[in-house]
Amino acid sequence: MALFAEFVLSAAAARQFPTDQLPEIALVGRSNVGKSSMLNSLLKANKLARTSNTPGRTQTLNYYRIWPEGKPKFGDPTEEVTGEERFSLRGSALEAAQSANAFYFVDMPGYGYAKVSESQKQGWRRLIEQYLVTRPNLKAVIQLVDLRHPPSKDDVAMWEWLRHYDRIRLCLATKADKVPRTQRPAHLQEAVRTLGLQSITAPAASGEVTPNQEPVLLYSAEEGMGRDVLWNWVRMVTRA
Ligand code: GDP
Repeated sequence: MALFAEFVLSAAAARQFPTDQLPEIALVGRSNVGKSSMLNSLLKANKLARTSNTPGRTQTLNYYRIWPEGKPKFGDPTEEVTGEERFSLRGSALEAAQSANAFYFVDMPGYGYAKVSESQKQGWRRLIEQYLVTRPNLKAVIQLVDLRHPPSKDDVAMWEWLRHYDRIRLCLATKADKVPRTQRPAHLQEAVRTLGLQSITAPAASGEVTPNQEPVLLYSAEEGMGRDVLWNWVRMVTRA
């Protein structure tokens, strides 16, 4: 069966997070960095994640359930459940998801979004921090940066914060197609320097993934650059 991806829910509070404990991979980055485009290109889905101009969904944690080997048929025991709980898998559906290596991508609110109030920003920050620090089934975080520009202060703060909390993380330098080929190594080196990485390290292709690896990867949603390497890494960390 082919890869299947489905939008599950938008959470504005921790009580809305799924309770089924499937592995999760969070996506972080400033607004407009290309998170939606990356998800759509990685999953070869056209409109699963909405690209910009739809600020509504950017203020919540958006959960996408990914079935890498396709979605098997199962009776849906969640049908009789109401309230927040109806989004979580249970019983035979959860067993089917676990044996099919299903996991979630969790698209976090983009930071640096100008058109919101300070109190709203603080609310998100609390939610994001609570999620990134305490979520037990969070396996890894993908932080996107724009290859065209050096990482911003917010980018650096986020990366250092993930490092502090010892999260397995990967830096995805996206929109690479917008930088001339010959200039890409210098831009990547600048990102590595600004984020304080030891060196340009490719994502592990096999073996153990640890928080101190700090891999970086060039990506282009437009051209599919980096897609296979990223997908391989994602499969590894969600199965670990
Ligand atoms: P988000 O706010 O982080 O979800 O960002 P979007 O995915 O909506 O992307 C913001 C803008 O950058 C859109 O106009 C995208 O078409 C564009 N974009 C995103 N990724 C790429 C990429 O890899 N290459 C190019 N050329 N444009 C991209």
